[in-house]
Amino acid sequence: MRVGRAIAKKLHLLAIIFITFTLSVSVHYILDTGQAQKVFSTFTKSEQVPRYIINVVFDEQNMLLEAKQRIHYENTTEGTIKDLYFHLYANAFNDIGTAPFEAGDMERAYPNGFDEGGIEIISVKKGNKKVNYKIMGEGNTNLRVTPKNPIEPGASIELTMEFKVKLPNSIGRMGYGENTVNIANWYPVLSVLDENGWNLEPYHSIGDPFYSNISGYSVNISIPEQYKLASTGNIIKVNADKNGKTYKIKADNVRDFAIVLSKKFFINRGDMDGTEVISYTIDGLKNEQALNYGMDALQIFNRSFGKYPYKQLSVVASDFFVGGMEYPNLVMIGQMLYEMDEDFSLEYVIAHEIAHQWWYGMVGNNEIKEPWLDEALTEYSTLMYFEEKYGGHIEEQVYEKMIKAQYEDFLGRRSGGDGGILKSLDEFDDQLQYSSIVYGKGAMFIRELRREMGDEAFIKALREYFDMYKFKNASTENFYNTLQKNTDKDLKKEFSKWLNLKIE
Ligand SMILES: [Zn+2]
Repeated sequence: MRVGRAIAKKLHLLAIIFITFTLSVSVHYILDTGQAQKVFSTFTKSEQVPRYIINVVFDEQNMLLEAKQRIHYENTTEGTIKDLYFHLYANAFNDIGTAPFEAGDMERAYPNGFDEGGIEIISVKKGNKKVNYKIMGEGNTNLRVTPKNPIEPGASIELTMEFKVKLPNSIGRMGYGENTVNIANWYPVLSVLDENGWNLEPYHSIGDPFYSNISGYSVNISIPEQYKLASTGNIIKVNADKNGKTYKIKADNVRDFAIVLSKKFFINRGDMDGTEVISYTIDGLKNEQALNYGMDALQIFNRSFGKYPYKQLSVVASDFFVGGMEYPNLVMIGQMLYEMDEDFSLEYVIAHEIAHQWWYGMVGNNEIKEPWLDEALTEYSTLMYFEEKYGGHIEEQVYEKMIKAQYEDFLGRRSGGDGGILKSLDEFDDQLQYSSIVYGKGAMFIRELRREMGDEAFIKALREYFDMYKFKNASTENFYNTLQKNTDKDLKKEFSKWLNLKIE
């Protein structure tokens, strides 16, 4: 995610700088690292690849999703599994008390007043037989399913769930506004089973509180004729009948599945390195700019970190009050950014969300326990985008104004320092503290690491980190080990200082 408010404050000055620059992309970081050496030991997190098959009908009249989901799960752990856990993030929208927004943001999240959303589980079955389940946890955001027979190591299970999702009139990740219907974090998604057991964190109001494994998806969604659709994955087929259209969509090696619908989408496409970049904008506003930023970001990050392996990437104007939000193959970009007088904020947020395709999307991490890991790297990658595209002196200015000044401004307003970047979401007091430390100080740390290691070693290490943890979940420890392995400099001191961490 990238918070729009902070950006808007800083950017009127910067916008002027960019007007005079031509948009030629030059990429300096072309390194051929060859096969990364997979020699050092890391604790590999669980690598189950569940497969979801979801049939869903969007009922516009009632803003309801009526769905049937089949999930195939294989126990790739060494232990017997008695219960399976799923997140029911949609249930956070049931109540004002659990809605995933800070109190000060409620009016912006619900422009027409609080509106209830949620997910109703109708049945859980294995074959034709009902399976026991329990809805539990904070805000009823966890689902525990207990099959009749435990799942032995190597065995698999197929479950069918019927459910309904009520979309609230809310312009956050899930809900609808004047222009778009945002369908994200909407279906029962498997929790991650790792060395700490099942991860059952609720839908926190700050950060992007998600942690998931790479999965496969086949989604059939039926929508009214007037709607256009943006989504994760590739559209295989569209069938039209008197009730509307049904999209058959397939996605492999992704950790979530998001959809945005609109009657007002204007769609434009481009090709970059064999990936189709699709710009969806409301009534065509700044469609060309958004498409170009998306193409440039994809090219720069492809060459810097390693190739984006998917066939499509959608940049989607959405009723979204926060700024931007990343999902696999799809970034939601707040409509207000398209409506600004200047284009810098739009470009910044698009570059940031697309960088998340590498850091979060492909290289996953526990965004609750170690939110800095993808967010700081993503924010720093955004600086790299400006450096590659416009040159080092522009990167310097963006860094000074967007990162350093914002962080120092925060420090000036709060006493007692900040306590380090590596903290879990619930250790942050609010979104301002979170973004100043995780984005601001986090990007400063990564920038300092590059200075310490030198350009070549730094980029080589990032490419190796991407290569090693692509389609997996990485940890701070994995990141540290990969960087340290690529330099003679001792990074212990830097990591200890910035992350407030003891490294043995
Ligand atoms: Zn982000």
